[in-house]
Amino acid sequence: AKTAHSQRGYCVFDASMHTAAHNRLLLESDLRRALEREEFHLLYQPIFSLITGQLAGFEALLRWQHPERGLLSPLDFVGVCEETGLILPVGEWVLQQACQQLQRWCQLSSAAQQLTLSVNVSTRQFSQTTQLLSTIASILQAFDLRPGQLKLEITESAIMDNLNSAEQLLKALRAYKLSISLDDFGTGYSSLSYLHQFAIDELKIDRAFTARLDAADSSRTIVSAIIALAQALSLTVVAEGIETVSQRQWLSANGCQLGQGYGLSYPLDATQALELIQKTTTSRFS
Ligand code: C2E
Ligand code: MG
Ligand code: MG
Ligand code: MG
Repeated sequence: AKTAHSQRGYCVFDASMHTAAHNRLLLESDLRRALEREEFHLLYQPIFSLITGQLAGFEALLRWQHPERGLLSPLDFVGVCEETGLILPVGEWVLQQACQQLQRWCQLSSAAQQLTLSVNVSTRQFSQTTQLLSTIASILQAFDLRPGQLKLEITESAIMDNLNSAEQLLKALRAYKLSISLDDFGTGYSSLSYLHQFAIDELKIDRAFTARLDAADSSRTIVSAIIALAQALSLTVVAEGIETVSQRQWLSANGCQLGQGYGLSYPLDATQALELIQKTTTSRFS
């Protein structure tokens, strides 16, 4: 295969690059139709109190049932959505779908009133905060929900990519009483200075750290430091990717308030989630 950029400055595509570019275009055109064809749905992964074992809320996770390629994870297509701007209509669909679902749960079970729903917000959505805020405001109103029931999960890179405006953006979201959760914490650029500068409510410890808790002292040191930092700044801490009882017990003993992971529950469909809500006062860990 030839290199992509020749010394004369023109681009030579080889067969594999052609296939990759072709697949990318196919994915993009499929994505453009996915919304109207109703090929997206959400799953809801429970988040539990590590102190009481009770259900605290859910994180909405996007899925795409592709007609030929089967069920796709957001990791397969969110990047293309972001590049093409499709993330704006898709992200709006996610917010409206998630809020509509929370309203249904609240109608069917009073226990759902106390739960939070976390929604992932991409860098591009976050950069359009005025639009994001008005979208959220009208969706919350339409489904009769309080802003405090919704948590927006953003990544460190969403902040760093919007560094000049991030402070104002986060203030606007805070003023509206939405909770802001910093997703995949510890994997990004990690400029600790923004943590107290910006209006953030929660840190989500990336599952890479959780996964190493059982094996590596260094991981326990890092996670302890993240929890101490969060406590000093009065932030809630959530651990992602809890798979084992020992991970859960270590996190709980070391002051991590909330947790999520396959060891507690896989992502659920809306009906399974409702069944869990109806048993919400029972502990997951007994
Ligand atoms: P995330 O926000 O960090 O979500 C957690 C991911 O970890 C989910 O993958 C979840 O299924 C997975 N997970 C949960 N517990 C465990 C565990 O114990 N072990 C392991 N190995 N994995 C676990 P998923 O659903 O494939 O989502 C991947 C990423 O896609 C998410 O990472 C999030 O960044 C993004 N995403 C998901 N839904 C949306 C959405 O609606 N909008 C946007 N913009 N991004 C989304
Ligand atoms: Mg997330
Ligand atoms: Mg995460
Ligand atoms: Mg993660």
